[in-house]
Amino acid sequence: VRRNAGEPEFHQAVREVLESLGRVVAKRPDYLEDALIERICEPERQIIFRVPWTDDKGRVQINRGFRVQFSSAMGPYKGGLRFHPSVNVGIIKFLGFEQIFKNALTGLPIGGGKGGSDFDPKGRSDGEIMRFCQSFMTELYRHLGEYTDVPAGDIGVGAREIGYMFGQYKRLTNRYEAGVLTGKGLFYGGSLARKEATGYGNTYFTQAMLQTGGSDFDGKRVVVSGSGNVAVYTIEKVQEFGGKVLACSDSSGYVVDEGGIDLDLLKEIKEVRRGRISQYLRMKGEGNGAYFVKSGEGSIWDVACDVAMPSATQNELTGKDAKKLVANGVTAVGEGANMPCTPEAIRAFQQAGVKFGPGKAANAGGVATSALEMQQNASRDRWSFEKTEAKLAEIMRDIHDSCYSTAEEFGAPGDYVIGANIAGFIRVAEPMRAFGVI
Ligand code: NDP
Repeated sequence: VRRNAGEPEFHQAVREVLESLGRVVAKRPDYLEDALIERICEPERQIIFRVPWTDDKGRVQINRGFRVQFSSAMGPYKGGLRFHPSVNVGIIKFLGFEQIFKNALTGLPIGGGKGGSDFDPKGRSDGEIMRFCQSFMTELYRHLGEYTDVPAGDIGVGAREIGYMFGQYKRLTNRYEAGVLTGKGLFYGGSLARKEATGYGNTYFTQAMLQTGGSDFDGKRVVVSGSGNVAVYTIEKVQEFGGKVLACSDSSGYVVDEGGIDLDLLKEIKEVRRGRISQYLRMKGEGNGAYFVKSGEGSIWDVACDVAMPSATQNELTGKDAKKLVANGVTAVGEGANMPCTPEAIRAFQQAGVKFGPGKAANAGGVATSALEMQQNASRDRWSFEKTEAKLAEIMRDIHDSCYSTAEEFGAPGDYVIGANIAGFIRVAEPMRAFGVI
């Protein structure tokens, strides 16, 4: 704790994993040798750097950039970049730590890392975004490479930002190294279905959890928080599976549409206009069973539903929210975001017998498809949407099944948190032991 002072989210993420590992070392005390568990909790390398850039008024702005290269036991560091004013080293470390186990669960050869900046893209022009991304990459590029570290998007970083960063990487290195970033545009090495992958993947995972109880999404009332990349494609897949998505949100508030969220309208607002969720009501017209609740005047988790899919940010769903959801009859929760549920919320769900899919398993579809993008880049190939989605569906099924069976094997049937932590840990621990003390 002293070494990582002022990093509460990192402590939270580590504590959750360590709580599960007691069951592993009880069976396999050899995992305590050579400080293996302590080593996994310490990043291999962390880079913090200045990002100077010029805004549209000609003023110089300074932001801070981060890249935490957490573990390369399974392959090159892999994990997204987040641009959000709340970013600090503790946030990036929690995300990087989670990423190690998530990436291991995919069964693909990728290590764990995460990065980003406290830059706030909201309200910034295209030119400002471009200059920021170029400056950010001007420092970061020397730490990247398709065999070293392969970033992707996250909050505030989508195809536009990846395009600017890839362009700058190419210019600085004089290398068209497609495999150095994922989430690229389709016309320069991106993969079909990558944009959809995290939301679709969480829907596949949650569907698999529902199926263990003989149920599925058909006819279910679903609440999805957020309205960014993960939320939009969660809504798309849930609707395809026959569920009705009643509500979604952004940091300004949440919208409820009793008739089911109009996905075309949502995409128009979020993907085309880069607008706010409050515009939904204005564009749809009031009095159609839709209403908007401003942030601070209510919680999206007050909306009664059968399935909750938090897909915005960390610690957005508290113990109080969880109790409300349980009282309203929720039966399954799939985390689309990273660590969106507080420890109290997770406890409340599990005590009530709600099926709970932790982010490191449920939202692994994004990074898994990023690894598929790397495969396509390495073989100079391009797969169809259907082929990529079929692989994603298979990977999510495998992740579900390995969490499920590991939880059973370690005496915690139905506990996907324990299953994910243990299955991910064992996969990373084995190569670490093989490599010796490094
Ligand atoms: P986006 O930037 O596309 O969307 C984020 C959404 O969450 C926006 O609607 C945003 O609203 C909302 N949000 C962010 N912060 C807050 C906050 N403090 N309070 C309320 N709402 C907030 O990001 P993504 O959809 O890519 O990421 C969402 C989550 O999913 C993150 O936790 C991310 O780490 C995780 N994730 C993403 C993956 C991916 O492939 N993109 C892969 C795996 C996990 P607003 O616009 O108002 O800020």
